[in-house]
Amino acid sequence: MIDLHLHSTHSDGTKSPAELVQMAKRLNFKAISITDHDTVSGTGEAILEGDKQGLEVIPGVELSVFNEDLHFHLLGYGIDCQDSQLLSGLERLQISRNERNDKIMRKLQKLGIKATREDLQSLSGVGQTGRPHIARLLVEQNVVKTIDQAFTTYLKKDACAYVPRFIYHVKEAIDLIGDAGGLPVLAHPVQLDRSLKLLPELLDDLVSMGLRGLEVYYPTQRGKIRQKLSFLANKYDLLETGGSDYHGDIRSGTTMAVGKNMTIPDHLFEKLNQALNYTKNNEIVS
Ligand code: AMP
Ligand code: ZN
Ligand code: FE
Ligand code: FE
Repeated sequence: MIDLHLHSTHSDGTKSPAELVQMAKRLNFKAISITDHDTVSGTGEAILEGDKQGLEVIPGVELSVFNEDLHFHLLGYGIDCQDSQLLSGLERLQISRNERNDKIMRKLQKLGIKATREDLQSLSGVGQTGRPHIARLLVEQNVVKTIDQAFTTYLKKDACAYVPRFIYHVKEAIDLIGDAGGLPVLAHPVQLDRSLKLLPELLDDLVSMGLRGLEVYYPTQRGKIRQKLSFLANKYDLLETGGSDYHGDIRSGTTMAVGKNMTIPDHLFEKLNQALNYTKNNEIVS
């Protein structure tokens, strides 16, 4: 069993990288990847703990991107987390997030909400800070009852404290990942549209830009949907990947990829590793 899509405290998850590794080991997983939003700062801790526990940890990241009028998420696997171009690309996202967080907090204060930027920082801790953290702060401070309500009332697009942020065009993100030795993968394609009607046309574009994989296994992609995704991965010669998108206990009813409909076969990890080794070896030769 593997799980290639997890979030830690370095973005909006509630478990530290080491805790995620320990949990995966207890569940008898062979390999995991922590794919925090816009940061690789939790990777070192996860790999170290993986070595200690005897569990493979593949470096990962998840980026929000756009192509024409579509917004979606791109995963990157096997990236070199010391790559200076990748790190400065991620830094640009963090700078934009910080500016945006300041603006959102100022808007909330103007609305009479007492939460401060310092409150937000201490709730968020290490790594990336985003709207999910602001939502948690609003719940903690009894401004709203639920995270969902925080988004609906204040944080979602067009709500009263919404502020946009900088995101990369998908081609730039594919290059950032590819140039850092990683494999770019389209995340949870069902979130584009449930019928998957937009997907073949998007894949035509993305494959020509250098996309290498499709996240076929995902909690909301089951039965016929998963079959169709698998068919498309095969048709476009894309690696199949899969993960739970577990964020810790903050999202009730979610967990790592174990249980009904969510066992992700080891061979996906083996193929991913083969593709990464192949890329590395070719780099050494050329
Ligand atoms: P950000 O990257 O800071 O703009 O935050 C985007 C993240 O917020 C997404 O990846 C979702 O995980 C989360 N999110 C967006 N809408 C909602 C919602 N209605 N309820 C809970 N989480 C949400
Ligand atoms: Zn998240
Ligand atoms: Fe995502
Ligand atoms: Fe995710």
